[in-house]
Amino acid sequence: MVARQAPHSDRQNGVDGDRGPRGAGGIADDDLYVRLKAFEGQAAVAVGVGKDPVNEPMIRHWCEAMGDTGPAYQGPDAVAPPTMLQAWTMGGLSGHPGRSTAHEALFALLDEAGCTSVVATDCEQEYLRPLRPGDRITFDSVIESVSPRKTTKLGAGYFVTTRTDVWADGEPAGTHRFRILKYAPAARREPRSQGGRGSGDRPRGPHPRPVINRDNAGFWDGVARHELLIQRCTDCATLRFPWLPGCNSCGGEGWDTVAAAGSGTVFSYVVMHHPPFPAFDPPYVVGLVELEEGVRVVAGLAGLRPEEVRIGMPVRLDFRTVDEDLVLPVFSGLPGPVGPGDELPPLTVPVTRTLIVAGAVASRDYQDVHHDAEAARAKGSPDIFMNILTTNGLVGRYITDFFGPRAVLRKVAIRLGAPNYPGDAMELRGTVLARDGDTTDVRVVGANSLGHHVTGTVTVTVTGTTPEPTP
Ligand code: ZN
Repeated sequence: MVARQAPHSDRQNGVDGDRGPRGAGGIADDDLYVRLKAFEGQAAVAVGVGKDPVNEPMIRHWCEAMGDTGPAYQGPDAVAPPTMLQAWTMGGLSGHPGRSTAHEALFALLDEAGCTSVVATDCEQEYLRPLRPGDRITFDSVIESVSPRKTTKLGAGYFVTTRTDVWADGEPAGTHRFRILKYAPAARREPRSQGGRGSGDRPRGPHPRPVINRDNAGFWDGVARHELLIQRCTDCATLRFPWLPGCNSCGGEGWDTVAAAGSGTVFSYVVMHHPPFPAFDPPYVVGLVELEEGVRVVAGLAGLRPEEVRIGMPVRLDFRTVDEDLVLPVFSGLPGPVGPGDELPPLTVPVTRTLIVAGAVASRDYQDVHHDAEAARAKGSPDIFMNILTTNGLVGRYITDFFGPRAVLRKVAIRLGAPNYPGDAMELRGTVLARDGDTTDVRVVGANSLGHHVTGTVTVTVTGTTPEPTP
């Protein structure tokens, strides 16, 4: 859809454009625009009621889709990831019963003018209160603005911005501003070229696979579930790692496992420059990490620059999803005090078909362009593409992964550019913009092979010193 976008163009959003002289479907622009403009300020949803109360299964499906293992979203006291805000208001497969006649009339008018396709371009959310299982969701939505006609790379159309206020059990829970482009699709584009570059990455080779045998299969099963399992002798309780058939201490053959808590220190490390492997980008650091349980583990020190690594430095266990079949344990540095200009370690997200579909379904978004390749092609896209709510969830996860278990998202505002198509990879990078006490603003950019997929700003609070807002 935005495949021909210049990789480093100043306007990252491939759907921004200039006003054209004629209406998209041949209706004189001025006449149509005046009619569209009349919808500003009208209700899009008068009294919306979430189809389900906030609930654990939807939270779990969302976290699984986003790869979000944040502890705040699990267990008996789980809250919903704040980026799910809109998901609780979505109509799902059977649609939105609460849509107002004004909203229907506006969309019908745009359809009539030939603007039959829709794509979300901006999402701005502010979170006022955590959402917990059992909370009943109500919302109202207003058509905030309709843009003049714009010519974009997708086709000509109109941007429609709606603002939704969300309540949980009658208390304000958050606001959500959403901008879509309703457009007449331009002629279908050829599938994107394979030589696309945008983030400066060279193509990488396949990642080497671990050798899995009957003696260590349980370890890799654990890693796939984001658990680092240590063997424990059932005769003398000695822990051992790596996995072995017998105990070095007493010779016993019986064993069970304990899951590593995740804290450790760098016992030793090497910086790899040579030999070059296609899957790796030197220089990179491989560490021997001593876990708090006492055993030592060889693993990549992810996101740490060679000059940052010190023997004895505290590190935290993390898991890196390399591709659909491979997860690896890695260790990252603990977030120290961050200040303006500091960069967060990058996160690479493989954009698989499964991620796109799982994210769309977890956010109750059944627009066909997110799951049906044929339908996407009929609408001028070379393939299905990631929906904005999945991008929003991934951006949120990236920030809370870094700021740790006490981080609470306050605001996520993103704009989409080059689409995330299957087979690509998105690299998220963050730069601290400002810090005020326990509140930090981070600029986030996610780039794929076509250019910038997402740009935005996230406000996060690391709680502990600031009490939770009370209603
Ligand atoms: Zn033993």
